[in-house]
Amino acid sequence: MALDMTRAQGGTAVHDIGTEIHGLITELFPICRSITGNGVRETLSIIGRHIPLEIHEVPTGTEVFDWTVPKEWNIRDAYIKNSRGEKVVDYRKSNLHVVNYSTPVRIKMPLEDLKKHVFSLPEYPDRIPYRTSYYNESWGFCLAHNDLLRLRDGEYEVCIDSKLEPGHLTYGEYLIKGESDAEVLISTHICHPSLANDNLSGVALATFLARELGGRRSRYSYRFLFVPGTIGSITWLCRNQGGVDKIKHGLVLVDVGDAGKFTYKKSRRGEAEVDRAVIHVLKHSTSDYDARQFDPYGHDERQYCSPGFNLPVGCFSRTPHGEFPEYHTSADDLTFVRPEYLSESFAMCLSILSVLDDNRRYVNLNPMCEPQLGKRGLYRMIGGPKDGGVQEVALLWTLNFSDGAHSLLDISERSGIKFDVVKKAADALLQHELLGALPE
Ligand code: ZN
Repeated sequence: MALDMTRAQGGTAVHDIGTEIHGLITELFPICRSITGNGVRETLSIIGRHIPLEIHEVPTGTEVFDWTVPKEWNIRDAYIKNSRGEKVVDYRKSNLHVVNYSTPVRIKMPLEDLKKHVFSLPEYPDRIPYRTSYYNESWGFCLAHNDLLRLRDGEYEVCIDSKLEPGHLTYGEYLIKGESDAEVLISTHICHPSLANDNLSGVALATFLARELGGRRSRYSYRFLFVPGTIGSITWLCRNQGGVDKIKHGLVLVDVGDAGKFTYKKSRRGEAEVDRAVIHVLKHSTSDYDARQFDPYGHDERQYCSPGFNLPVGCFSRTPHGEFPEYHTSADDLTFVRPEYLSESFAMCLSILSVLDDNRRYVNLNPMCEPQLGKRGLYRMIGGPKDGGVQEVALLWTLNFSDGAHSLLDISERSGIKFDVVKKAADALLQHELLGALPE
């Protein structure tokens, strides 16, 4: 891939991209998103200022495998007022206050009854929890536990000015055409309201990766999906069953803006090329990481890796869902995600994609004994300037194992030499006509 890594690895440039990603998270943060509705449309329209996003609208009631596209949810306002008419809970202060997907309600009730519809977190009494009522029509409020304790007995006026009615499920898609129709899939969920790490971090990172790749030549085509969690990926898979064979590698991006170490959850296949590429890049980085086997719990990789598809799609994150105490609470805010972690995640993803794009197989065109490197000037290249030099040992590994069966990543794993170094050696050998590329 003609991916320019200087931008991702250079000092100030990295800071700039992290700041840009954080800026987009900040812009998207106030919007009340759900699995359907105008919050998703508004989000996609903002993303559309950065990349040419194609928007799809799928009608409520559409059958998608064992599921049905649900009603569309929209909300204008919600509050709880005490008997003096004072708002004690106000959706306009935090959209987390309303259980996401709540049916409309306008009712007066005593505190005792209201409490049956209220959720709080006694273990984190200052945080508002995030709750949803998808696929089970009901209504409710989420409060900081301390605020719940402050409510006195009496009658309360409850209002949720929402609409749950036939409409559409909305998702965004952007296909960057490469030299080949074979695709790399990048998928991220766009259904959470004001929560930064889960998953505006993934949404914003995917947006800037797409912008970066959109301006470059690449071997693969890159398909970016911005879908509501679960139902969105199921809907996409159902509508695109015929084309999934083109997906050769894929990543779900989530929770990429916190300070935690990188965590990679492998595809169901376990040893797919994407699994090996991610682990190679993490292993050769200076960052701490954790690599895990696939499990059928998590994000949209559950759908991509369902046995009927079994696509080579892993999940790339920093601290995974449920493993940071801010998860699904109001503490997952704009201060919890930081530009420096976002830029590190950006650089890591670009490195992974570049390994995938450059991982080809070659044939040694001079396989009878070693070719004489000196007479071709290849020794002069060795030990040159830091970035231009080619390692002799990498030349020897690449020559020996370029037998048409081993890819550059195979050679890199076997030799322990970083992929970029093997790639550089292969480029030099190609230039000197000692290697030939295999047709795809
Ligand atoms: Zn979540």
